[in-house]
Amino acid sequence: MAKNRRMPIETGCPDGFQYMHPTMLKNFGQWKDHTHPRVGVLCHISDSGDKIWTVRAGTQRILDVYTLRKLCDIGDEYADGHVRFTIRSNIEYMVSDEAKVEPLIEALEDAGFVVGGTQNSVAFISHTQGWLHCDIPATDASGVVKAMMDELIYEFKHAEMPNRVHITTSCCQINCGGQGDIAINIQHTKPPKINHDLVANVCERPSVVARCPVAAIRPAMVNGKPSLEVDEKKCICCGACYPPCPPMQINDPEHSKLAIWVGGNHSNARSKPSFQKLVAAGIPNNPPRWPEATAIVKKILSVYKEDAKDWERINDWIDRIGWPRFFELTELPFTKYHIDNWRGSRKSLNASTHIRF
Ligand code: SF4
Ligand code: SF4
Repeated sequence: MAKNRRMPIETGCPDGFQYMHPTMLKNFGQWKDHTHPRVGVLCHISDSGDKIWTVRAGTQRILDVYTLRKLCDIGDEYADGHVRFTIRSNIEYMVSDEAKVEPLIEALEDAGFVVGGTQNSVAFISHTQGWLHCDIPATDASGVVKAMMDELIYEFKHAEMPNRVHITTSCCQINCGGQGDIAINIQHTKPPKINHDLVANVCERPSVVARCPVAAIRPAMVNGKPSLEVDEKKCICCGACYPPCPPMQINDPEHSKLAIWVGGNHSNARSKPSFQKLVAAGIPNNPPRWPEATAIVKKILSVYKEDAKDWERINDWIDRIGWPRFFELTELPFTKYHIDNWRGSRKSLNASTHIRF
């Protein structure tokens, strides 16, 4: 090994402790309990008797610098100068004095922000933002979030659901669109269209062939040039070939649709984690307000609110009532496309931390 070899410079997340509220730092790992004084506010109590109040406000995630400054100014003036962002794009302010809670909420609401999203409310929809920087989006996930949250804002500000509801969106079909009680994901419905003139110049063909999960792509010579061909009978329209090979265009304003999935749950708390299941497909990807997708999400939420027992998450509720009853109550059409007949699923969906087979 060369002497005095240059060591790599570590990058990544900075140490979070330097930004932590002093009361949180002092009581790190020593929190005994918490209460929920009102929607949007949590009070944590430590073993030492210290208390800290957290006030949560929704944000639009893609924040311009003026909004960010406004949020920080509110934190400096009405809170203790410490904030954090949750994975669902909420900003949280921590205060160690209860008297600061109401003025802080008032300042946030006066500035046009909404306070809520705690306990059994509908939390802010988590979303990706690929249309800004990613190479494969087929829709603007932030727009879907904005349109839906405008309609669901009552449920963000009121904790009236049987349990918390996490909704997610994604702008493509394969990557970030995580598990949620309800997930709104892109669904491609046609195989990619290949621009054979570009493939030889742009793509590494072996990487593209290897990328296809169902081995539908083969190398081919087209018009005397090296290119690719797709066996359209095998293709499941996933879009995985598009990132390594942009000439395999799969996004299409008409054929890239939205699909709604329900019952995804990461948690091990009461039952094993569950995968979300498709309940509505082929929904028009219809900006700027996505009315068709929003109507379905609202219907599912209203039925869940009405029918589920206290503390049942959406997956627990469906487990209890069964899928036939779910489709009956939500009035969603059940078709043959809802039946998962993929032979490989038993092995590849082996993701429970409780049982491995
Ligand atoms: S969901 Fe897909 S398009 Fe959106 S950011 Fe993630 S990988 Fe990119
Ligand atoms: S869309 Fe998916 S299944 Fe179809 S060819 Fe591309 S990688 Fe294969």
